[in-house]
Amino acid sequence: MSADRERKAAKIRHLLETEGDAVFENTTHVNAGRYETNSHRDDIDELRDAARAIKEDAIERLPELVETVKESVEANGGEVYVADDAADANRYITEVTESKGAETLAKSKSMTTEEIDVNDALADAGVDVTETDLGEFVVQVADEAPSHLVGPAFHKSTEDIAELFNAHFDPDEPFETAEDLTQFARDHVGEKIVDADVGMTGANFVFAESGTVALVTNEGNARKCAVTPDTHVAVAGIEKLIPSVDDFPPFAELIARAAGGQDIATYLSLLSPPVDSPVVDFDEPDEPLDASTDDREFHLVLLDNGRTEMREDDDLRETLYCIRCGACANSCANFQHVGGHAFGGETYTGGIATGWEAGVHGLDSAAEFNDLCTGCSRCVDACPVKIDIPWINTVVRDRINRGADAEFDWLVEGLTPDADPGGVDLQKRLFGNFGTLAKLGSATAPVSNWLADWGPTRAVMERVAGVDRRRDLPEFQRETLVDWFEARDPLPAAGDADREVVLYPDAYTNYVLVDRGKAAVRTLEALGVDVAVAPCHESGRAPLSQGMIATARENAERVADSLDPHLDSGRDVVVVEPSDLAAFRREYEHLLDDDRAERLAEHSYEVMEYVYGLLENGADADLLASGGEVAFHSHCQQRTLDVDVYTEAVFERLGYDVVTSDVECCGMAGSFGYKSEYYELSVDVGETLADQFEAQDVAQRELVASGASCHEQLGSLLPQASTHPVELVAPE
Ligand code: SF4
Repeated sequence: MSADRERKAAKIRHLLETEGDAVFENTTHVNAGRYETNSHRDDIDELRDAARAIKEDAIERLPELVETVKESVEANGGEVYVADDAADANRYITEVTESKGAETLAKSKSMTTEEIDVNDALADAGVDVTETDLGEFVVQVADEAPSHLVGPAFHKSTEDIAELFNAHFDPDEPFETAEDLTQFARDHVGEKIVDADVGMTGANFVFAESGTVALVTNEGNARKCAVTPDTHVAVAGIEKLIPSVDDFPPFAELIARAAGGQDIATYLSLLSPPVDSPVVDFDEPDEPLDASTDDREFHLVLLDNGRTEMREDDDLRETLYCIRCGACANSCANFQHVGGHAFGGETYTGGIATGWEAGVHGLDSAAEFNDLCTGCSRCVDACPVKIDIPWINTVVRDRINRGADAEFDWLVEGLTPDADPGGVDLQKRLFGNFGTLAKLGSATAPVSNWLADWGPTRAVMERVAGVDRRRDLPEFQRETLVDWFEARDPLPAAGDADREVVLYPDAYTNYVLVDRGKAAVRTLEALGVDVAVAPCHESGRAPLSQGMIATARENAERVADSLDPHLDSGRDVVVVEPSDLAAFRREYEHLLDDDRAERLAEHSYEVMEYVYGLLENGADADLLASGGEVAFHSHCQQRTLDVDVYTEAVFERLGYDVVTSDVECCGMAGSFGYKSEYYELSVDVGETLADQFEAQDVAQRELVASGASCHEQLGSLLPQASTHPVELVAPE
């Protein structure tokens, strides 16, 4: 293994051991809360659309909104400073503290202030900063970086925090419980707020029209920081501007659900500072500390720091719609297991961190963790503003690939089986060309399988390309699905068929898991469908997962060329592998022209989705295999596309008793689980799924998984093999 891969593997191994359990408990708890609170309303999708439209409009009108907020804040009696970068913002902020002669500052949670390292700048200026959000306070005491956008101390358990506070504060009675710790922190930071010369907050939203800062919190300390000291500095990225309070309702509904799994946040403060109220004494609320409101100051620092360039970048622009709820991290299986100290850059953590880090700190920061995104797409469902986070990660990966050796691109052009130039490392190029490899492996099987599994070959593959030797490799079949289909005795003419489909044979189904393809053909034909099988061309999923967009585009065009004549003649496209359906329905819009992508998306179906449709339209369910006890794991992409429900519905219709896993992703995710630097993380994620299927009431059931990766992962972690759902229901 290369030194860099070993370094990454060691870091992940360390974090799995030290922080993984706490991160898993905290993120999965909030994630489950999000599912629960979202189920309380039936208009979540409409709210997400509305929120998205507002952010699109706001970013489009950003220069205008900046001018508007300057006017409104100044009319209220405050000042607005638009900072070009971190140094500019810190210079302005320290000038404010110096002008006030400030020695102490109480600060609420704010990722934007983390982005500019304002605490360091203030410390250099002689200002003592106290973080007042409980999680931020914990990481400040621990002298650590936040590990999550919303839960900075998600990597610590109650016991960890008790140990930290007992060592740091040396209380008379050692802290033990969460209540002890919370009460202590509340009192401690409360005193710091009362004594602070300056209060600093972030802003979840800024309403341009009224100069209003919206703060959404669960602890209330942000509001205290804003209104207790007589000087309030709010620091916000320019993307936090929305036109007016009228635009706020969808966000008020969504943000607490996404961020905390709550119907509504505990504190929702809308302040139009300088606030027109005296400074409050918390112990005697009716007795103001200072009855005067005249000398109140408010400074709104709007940070650019690369955001204007992001706005002009067609692919990174979407990042600016982010409301920093952290739901993408909570829904990400890899993040759930390893946390933001691995899955994050200089400031930002989780799925969207790649976009933020690339935009505000540069590609090098994003490159450090970008590969931890497997493109499973569970974050797409979770995001309250429907950001296509996997696409942002893919684009940044592509740029990272090209960044290093772009000047030598000409050296490899024409020499590799793909369309990507130089810069792509060997590991990525290997996995990105899986379709070509599989074709070669199948043509030379079984020798290819023996050779690939030979000890010396595995050692070389691990050392040169980072393919972990602990993983079993796919076993290529000599007879492909296409060969099998063409060699069959011709079926009776299609005249009586109710429907006509073309089955898309993805590389895995065609060359490795051929039986599931055969089962799909038998099932469809039994239900009266005339089936054609298209030529096998790689869909583009494999190169996309490696950030090889040029190759993916070439693949997509070849697939579309082969399917277009079938679509022209009225056939539907049926897909066995969910990730390829996701390519057709979600990713081809980035790779093909609009009309072509739309038509393919509209006429493509996952095989069990299609079977469901046939049964609903009168096909005879008795023609399929029925009954039995099943343990089912739906593929991550299948869940994001909302088509997993059809598999369950078919099982129910055919009398199967089904237990379904609730893990977001199996952890294998195409090539991810093969990579030596990520093997242990992949197994750690997979074990959560395996544990569910090893439970006492589940272990005897027939194991069924929709995705090839899930099949491989389960096969390596459990004694029994899994099958595809269509293999279970197919007639003999
Ligand atoms: S990308 Fe979406 S889910 Fe992730 S933090 Fe931003 S708003 Fe939340």
